[in-house]
Amino acid sequence: MSLESTGSKTKYVRVWKKLQISEVKQFLLYVDDLYGTCGNCKKLGLNYLKDKSCPDCKTTFKYIATNSKNPADVAKLLSRMEKENISLTMIDREDFERSSAKDAALDLFKN
Ligand SMILES: [Zn+2]
Repeated sequence: MSLESTGSKTKYVRVWKKLQISEVKQFLLYVDDLYGTCGNCKKLGLNYLKDKSCPDCKTTFKYIATNSKNPADVAKLLSRMEKENISLTMIDREDFERSSAKDAALDLFKN
């Protein structure tokens, strides 16, 4: 099988994976349309197609999350990233925020 024929058969499928929330938070780039925000230091106005790391805190991004809940927008973002050879892992923002909130609540109970 050639690379071309496998390539044409690849599709986006959402995968459930256990992640360390604190790590995700540190290496996350939030994207709203074309502009992004560093999840670590909250620097605004990053370009997810150009900024592989944060110009302020120097975090090299591993994850990306978008404000959009529209799967078509997410797919557009993913295909743009693919074209530019950007291999960030797209995570579901709602899942992530829910998990972060749960983490925070657990921490409260610990104290
Ligand atoms: Zn930063």
